[in-house]
Amino acid sequence: MTDLLTGPDTLAQERRLVTEVPGPRSRALADRRAAAVTSAVGSTMPVYAERAGGGVIVDVDGNSFIDLGSGIAVTNVGNAAPAVVAAVQAQVAAFTHTCFMVTPYEGYVAVCEELSALTPGDHAKKSALFNSGAEAVENAVKVARHATGRTAVVVFDHAYHGRTNLTMALTAKNMPYKDGFGPFASDIHRVPMSYPFRDQPGTTGEQAAARAIAMIETQVGAGNVAAVLIEPIQGEGGFVVPAPGFLPALAEWSREAGAVFIADEIQTGFCRTGAWFASEHEGVVPDLVTTAKGIAGGLPLAGLTGRAELMDSVHTGGLGGTYGGNPVACAAALATIRTMREQDLAGAARAIEATMLPRLRALQERTSVVGDVRGRGAMLAVELVKAGTSEPDAELTGRIAKACHAQGVLTLTAGTFGNVLRFLPPLVIGQELLTEALDVLDAVFDELAPAR
Ligand SMILES: *Cc1c(COP(=O)(O)O)cnc(C)c1O
Repeated sequence: MTDLLTGPDTLAQERRLVTEVPGPRSRALADRRAAAVTSAVGSTMPVYAERAGGGVIVDVDGNSFIDLGSGIAVTNVGNAAPAVVAAVQAQVAAFTHTCFMVTPYEGYVAVCEELSALTPGDHAKKSALFNSGAEAVENAVKVARHATGRTAVVVFDHAYHGRTNLTMALTAKNMPYKDGFGPFASDIHRVPMSYPFRDQPGTTGEQAAARAIAMIETQVGAGNVAAVLIEPIQGEGGFVVPAPGFLPALAEWSREAGAVFIADEIQTGFCRTGAWFASEHEGVVPDLVTTAKGIAGGLPLAGLTGRAELMDSVHTGGLGGTYGGNPVACAAALATIRTMREQDLAGAARAIEATMLPRLRALQERTSVVGDVRGRGAMLAVELVKAGTSEPDAELTGRIAKACHAQGVLTLTAGTFGNVLRFLPPLVIGQELLTEALDVLDAVFDELAPAR
């Protein structure tokens, strides 16, 4: 339970190491875990959380880590954000669940109204709510297939869309997501992504789109495509930002082909990239948008929002689920969205970019192992390579992340080749804390990465 007097509001915003990492209490929990929790679920950090807020996570030994992960782009509004805590406490005391399919309630409707207002485009929109990102993606494909009467789904190299059977098929990377878990859902077609760092130098977004489209037309057939599904900036795939023009060209092709253009904004949404949604940076208006992660300040909630005629093309009862749009999660989402508006967290994400990007670029200048610096807003990454080549260096990436952890800075890795350090700070992180985290990163690079 959050004690409002000593809660995250008053949680000291500092990096503080008071034991070795992990400390004795975390080690004891690790022992219990080893006996009770499957080893198939991994953890980035060896420490166990006790409380978190603002830009820090405090472990059970009293160590305070600077959070550059936000629980994978979830706590954009901060952990245990005061407005979210209050809304959840009020809702949980009123009722916890009736099932929207049995006895509906206002919170669900209000979240769908917000999604209509916030997602790109001013066309008539409708939404359905679910529990996880994967579930939202599954339902996007259901709607697209039902509405078009077609079955083929086009996805991209380096894509990540989830871990359920259909979304494993949509996801590109074998280890750890797919290995040994087949057979996978059929009629999924993977085409090349625009990946400026690894494409032929000078490849424009339009050229990269033409390459993908040629493959779709020759190998799938435009008339068979139910949906083109893409992350506007890829998340797990390594924060790959497509060249300008790539997304608009694909959206345009989809429109002409009668295919549904689906933007998976699960990681990029809710102010993360400096706008409500990353599609906005290129003026792209998707037919369907999937949301989750940042939507509800840490409570499990996901949304599928899109053109009203698409969303209403499914028979009544065709979409749903026991917990989808749980009232407590909806209350959290409404408080999260209100906080994002009131505190201009999209602006905060742009300010984080303004602080971080020059520092990351300086690292690239100083060492020979940073091949690329990229991202938008508070979704930034460096891609690490063997000095002077473009060969991925996953081993060094892992060592740098671990060294940051040992110094009290939580960083995540990503990428098809495991060689991307990615940064996803809570949008409410303080400037001083962020600067301190960057100082730690500098020191770690100075120690582990050869200077130019
Ligand atoms: C995390 C993620 C998902 C899956 O969401 P879950 O809530 O983990 O099921 C899907 N798409 C993208 C882009 C994601 O980042």
